This record gives sequence, C-alpha cells and structure tokens, in this order.
Amino acid sequence: MTTSADAVTAGSPALAPPMPTRPAARPDLELEPESFGSRVLVGLFVAVPLLALLAAIPLAWIWHLLSWQDIVLTVVFYEITGNGIAMGFHRYFTHGSFKATRPFKIALAIAGSLAVEGPVLVWVADHRRHHKYSDAEGDPHSPWRFGTSWKALTKGLVFAHVGWLFGLDRTNQEKFVPDWLADRDIRMVSRHFTALTTASLLAPALIGGLWTWSWQGALTAFFWASLVRVAFLHHVTWSINSICHTFGKEEFDVRDKSRNVNWLAILSFGESWHNLHHADPTCARHGVLKGQIDIAARCIWLAEKLGWVYDVRWPDEARLTGRRTAGRTRRLGSMTRRVISSARSGAGRLP
Ligand SMILES: [Zn+2]
Ligand SMILES: [Zn+2]
Repeated sequence: MTTSADAVTAGSPALAPPMPTRPAARPDLELEPESFGSRVLVGLFVAVPLLALLAAIPLAWIWHLLSWQDIVLTVVFYEITGNGIAMGFHRYFTHGSFKATRPFKIALAIAGSLAVEGPVLVWVADHRRHHKYSDAEGDPHSPWRFGTSWKALTKGLVFAHVGWLFGLDRTNQEKFVPDWLADRDIRMVSRHFTALTTASLLAPALIGGLWTWSWQGALTAFFWASLVRVAFLHHVTWSINSICHTFGKEEFDVRDKSRNVNWLAILSFGESWHNLHHADPTCARHGVLKGQIDIAARCIWLAEKLGWVYDVRWPDEARLTGRRTAGRTRRLGSMTRRVISSARSGAGRLP
C-alpha cells in the first residue's frame, strides 16, 4: 500500500505519452464511485458563483451596487479562505511543509473549508494523487490527458480547470490520507463541510447587514463577498491545475509539465510558482527566487514568529541548486537556508 508520505514526497513519474481517455482504469488507485447527488452539488457550487462573477461588473456599473464595506468584506474573506487553501490545505495538510499547534491546525482546516473547494480530506487526497501521478496516467486533472495537439490540449485545459470535478471516481482516502483520517479534529472539520460552506456564504451577508444596518447592505455583501469571492478563488485555484501545467517558465527540473506563472502569484498567494513546487513539493516557500512574491510563505514566516507553527521546511540552497534548469542564474530569495551559514552554524539564516 502506498503511504501518504510516499504520495507527498515522491517525484512525478517520467512524462508519459498521452493518456488514454479513460485513465481511471489503474487498479492500484482503488478509486471509489462518486454519487450522483454530490456531482449535482459540485455543479451548483461551480455554476452559481460563476454566474454571479459574470453578472458582477455590469450590475455594479449600472446599479451602483458596490459599497466600500463590500470591498473590505470581499478582500478579507478572500484573504482568509485563499490562505486557508494555500497555507492550510496545500502546504500544511497535503505536503507537511511545517508543523502546527493544535488550535492553528484546526483554524487552517476551517479557513480552507470556507473556500468551498471540498472537505479537507477530499482536497488533500486529490492533491496527493496529483503529485504522485503528475501529468501521467492516474493524475486527476492533467491538461495533457487527451494528447498534445492544440485540439486535445484545449479540451485538456477545460478538463484540468473544471471538468475533472465532475468525474465518476473519487480518490481513495485510506490510501492517500491515512495520517489525517487518524486525526479526530480533522475528521470532524471534514465532516462539517456543509455547515462551514453555509457559514462561508452567510457570514458576509450578516456582517454586511449589521455594518450598514440595511437589507441592501446584506444583499450586496452576499453577492460580492460570498458569491463573487468564492467564484474568483475557485478559478484562481483551478488555474494552478490548468494554466500552471501548460504555460509559464520551467526554472527547475521537473519530469512533469508544471511551470512558474508570475502574473498569478499575488492572486494565488504564491501557489502559481508551481514549477518549483513540483521540483521540491515539501518546501514551505514556492516563490524561492529573488523577487518572486509568495504571500502564503510570508504568512508561514509570521506564524512561525508568533509560535503557531514550527519545524518549517524553508528553501534549502544546497537542495535547490541541483534542481535548477541549465542557464538559470537568478539568485534565491529570502527565507532560504544558505550553504555557507548552514555549514558554519548548523542552522539556516533567516531574515
Ligand atoms: Zn502540491
Ligand atoms: Zn501540479
């Protein structure tokens, strides 16, 4: 049986030729059937916020339905939930880039759940499977699934972005997340995903209504800070699966198609430095090169200072140097454990 540790740290298999259109046939994946009801729910979660997002700009323009309170609430909820995904679901729960105190662990699980991207156990299982089979047979969302022609890649991009959510199979949790399945707190948070989704959608409306003391304030806050915010973050997260496995720079050697995409860095909290992430999956900072903005890494740095997280796996110069692609000389950024200081003191130099 594959352990979660294998799933987190294993490099991707060599880039395989285009996968057959039914790659779920791998018996070793032990996939579980997905129910019709949950696929309908996924459809609602995808469609309703997306329609809100598409309607947002013309409505706001015509009816002046955007207050400064709406902007504040949207930004705050986007920050909390986006970091819940980047720092929590991804770097902590999937890859163990750092250890966390129990209250902070629970807070990260709740913050990530509020992003409405599925229960933590489901999210982590899918993502560990993605790393194990990246861009090869078994990857739940590779844009290269249908081949390399422009037609196949166009279809693959749509599939990697959103189509895979409607798949008939579910990643086996016993196989991919035995560590978190054994954790009572995380099982509890994962089980309460529906309640947390409801809270994520209603809290902005409640706060907006009380803040402006008006029904209109509640409604516009619900529209912007709930629907539009959820839709926008959905598409940013999904862009990591689609865009960051198709376009961008290969600054580190990987055996899959992961790439670094700079224009998505701020919106994705640093998750779009995806090429480095596949080259060194447990590294706490993904934008390791000088000037690469990585908000989630800075938040981990802050949480470490506050004593909420510890044993952080900061970038390691010795480890990363051997993984640079030929001809790339850009310097490594802050938070990196340098070779010289490590050799002298046995500890990394942090800013
Ligand atoms: Zn990952
Ligand atoms: Zn990836």
